[in-house]
Amino acid sequence: MKSATIVGAGLVGSLWAVHLSKAGYKVTILEMRSDLRNVDIAAGKSINLAFSERGWTAFKAVGIDSHVNDIAIPMYGRTIHDTKGNLTYQPYGQEGQAIYSVSRAGINCKLMNIAENIGAENIQILFNEKCIGADLKNGIVHTENTKTGIKSKFESNIVFATDGAFSAIRYRAMQKVDRFEYNQHYIEDGYREILLPANEDGSYKLEKNSLHIWPRGRFMLIALPNEDGSFTCTLFMPFENHEFSFDKLKSKNDVEHFFKEVFSDFYNLMPNIAEVWQDHPLSSLAIIKCYPWAHGKTVLMGDAAHATVPFYGQGMNSGFEDCTIMGQLMDKHDENWELIFDEYQKMRKPEGDAVQDLSLHNYYVMRDYVSDPKFLLQKKFERRIEQLFPGKYTPLYTQVSFTNIPYTEALENGKQQDTYIKGIMEQHDIEKLFSTDKIDALINSLFL
Ligand code: FAD
Repeated sequence: MKSATIVGAGLVGSLWAVHLSKAGYKVTILEMRSDLRNVDIAAGKSINLAFSERGWTAFKAVGIDSHVNDIAIPMYGRTIHDTKGNLTYQPYGQEGQAIYSVSRAGINCKLMNIAENIGAENIQILFNEKCIGADLKNGIVHTENTKTGIKSKFESNIVFATDGAFSAIRYRAMQKVDRFEYNQHYIEDGYREILLPANEDGSYKLEKNSLHIWPRGRFMLIALPNEDGSFTCTLFMPFENHEFSFDKLKSKNDVEHFFKEVFSDFYNLMPNIAEVWQDHPLSSLAIIKCYPWAHGKTVLMGDAAHATVPFYGQGMNSGFEDCTIMGQLMDKHDENWELIFDEYQKMRKPEGDAVQDLSLHNYYVMRDYVSDPKFLLQKKFERRIEQLFPGKYTPLYTQVSFTNIPYTEALENGKQQDTYIKGIMEQHDIEKLFSTDKIDALINSLFL
């Protein structure tokens, strides 16, 4: 029987196992952690992710999209909280379009269950098996059991490294291959999560179906809803050397004062913020680029190949898209893995680069521009154009989050559109045209 090894039972590895088992492979997944499904779920409550169109497409490709419905909370737009606590709402797309908040642990557990159910005896997940090396050419993975210390060797026809941003396959084996390119860039900002609990009756303290943002120029707080009425909030901020940076928040007093001053409406919802500040660690954010992604019988997928910063909510979605594309290539090349890997990496590397560029760009958007009146007017103008000419004008955010247009194309289209729209805004008083109901006439004159 055809055999495959997957290193990492995270989001991408668990989904990819489903593809392989459907294609008749016997799959062994080696996961360094214990089984997440046996861990206190509260531990997994902290991180949630925005799941969007590319994720749905990937799940549809193997017929499992209905499984996500019950754990996905639609967020139809952004709610912006200004310094005085005033709210502004910006829909993400057209009526009914949403991105979805999913718990990272929840979706990972679900995917592992699906993999084991669909794969039956053909998918085996081995926990506490930490990859410590690999023979890339011959499809061999070496592990050490984190509980027993026993070392093992797994050999199969083909190996998929889905072991995340700090992939052991990549740093222990690929980086030793001649001419392997590798670049790791930490941005100067880190993040800390804060859990905003539900009201006592279980209701939400903020509007449920929205992604909340408190943009403050050089830093920002965001909040995504959880199923139990709580919100996972994340503060993104420079580590040091700024008026507002993590190194300034040393004592409980500092934390309390900071939140009272800059996020007053949030502070009112969570006056015990200083008490829970240390509940989650301060973490760093990196963009990791490398190439080639394949060597011999081994290939990188997901974060192992193209880890990015989280500001477009596309890291997981692009990893899921890797599975969609790899699945299509598997059919196209009739499981000739040399051809599949070659086309996969040539197709996907520019896409990984584009996701990384988009993610960094959206960091500036979320941090700085979403509170800029000019930016808000531009978004309003673009939405109106899209409403009048759907299909003819698709804003960048829509292309990335609500379509499967390649990221490279979306990035290029976005740049051209931005220049075009800014040019129009310089020539016309768009705000006035909105207030005098003449905006549609202008748009018609431009697009009809
Ligand atoms: P992972 O999910 O990291 O899984 C890797 C797996 O490999 C893990 O189970 C790990 O235990 C295992 N592993 C690691 N090393 C070894 C080893 N040596 N041996 C065996 N197993 C090993 N993406 C989005 O699409 N939307 C979002 O809104 C979003 N928000 C984010 C917010 C934050 C703060 C961060 C940090 C990321 C966010 N992301 C988001 C990105 C997303 O989390 C990642 O892109 C996604 O988890 C990548 O999936 P993966 O399967 O490639 O890697």
